[in-house]
Amino acid sequence: MKFKLTIAWLYPDLMSTYGDRGNLICLEKRCSWRKIEVEIKNITLETGISELLTADLLFMGGAQDRQQKVAADDFIHHKGPVIKRMINSDIPALFVCAAYQAAGYYYKPYHGKDIPGAGIFDLYTEHPGDQKQRLIGNCASEIVNLSELKGTTLVGFENHGGRTYLGGKMKPLAKVLTGGGNNGEDGFEGGVYRHAIGSYYHGPLLPKNPQLADWLIARALEVKYRKKIKLQPLVSFEEKVAHKKMLKSIT
Ligand code: GLN
Repeated sequence: MKFKLTIAWLYPDLMSTYGDRGNLICLEKRCSWRKIEVEIKNITLETGISELLTADLLFMGGAQDRQQKVAADDFIHHKGPVIKRMINSDIPALFVCAAYQAAGYYYKPYHGKDIPGAGIFDLYTEHPGDQKQRLIGNCASEIVNLSELKGTTLVGFENHGGRTYLGGKMKPLAKVLTGGGNNGEDGFEGGVYRHAIGSYYHGPLLPKNPQLADWLIARALEVKYRKKIKLQPLVSFEEKVAHKKMLKSIT
């Protein structure tokens, strides 16, 4: 059977700082190496909802506060409600940093008024102002709430001022081994809601943690083709060596 996945890249012209485009490249490669056809659709402020609805997997990257504000109105009032329904139908998604914040109820930035969120994730984010330093640096954590990946490690790079606090409907993705995580206090990084993942890890996240890329691909195939899918294993030798080296150097 020939599989095909359509990946929606949300606001690529606004929310893709810190190399987060690399997550798309990783997903595309790990599909094509398995002969899974991939179509990537750029979903901009101008793109209609019908295009978004064709997606089997959603990705939205990080940004500075300014771009977060520019995307906010369209995300909250047009694309967000559709994305919320898609995620509630188990479509997998990855939201990195500013996207993770924007998917919550609100983000209180360092300057200016609160930026409302799409209310997809049960969380809120607040910048502590001058009280606390930005959370910046190489980081590592261990997955706790994805059953198929429990105990595997994540490495990445974080650069955020906002502190994110999860509500009861959002489980933490991983427990922090080193770095700030969601808020530098509770010892957790990221969040999971159904098949949607939020994370503060740039790097980009997926090439550094190929098991997570495969988890997203497998969920997207299972939801689309309505059957359990066992992905053909990939050697991923370089990825594993790089991951181990990074993990060793920071923990
Ligand atoms: N502007 C947000 C913050 O500083 C997110 C930054 C980012 O996406 N890296 O917390």
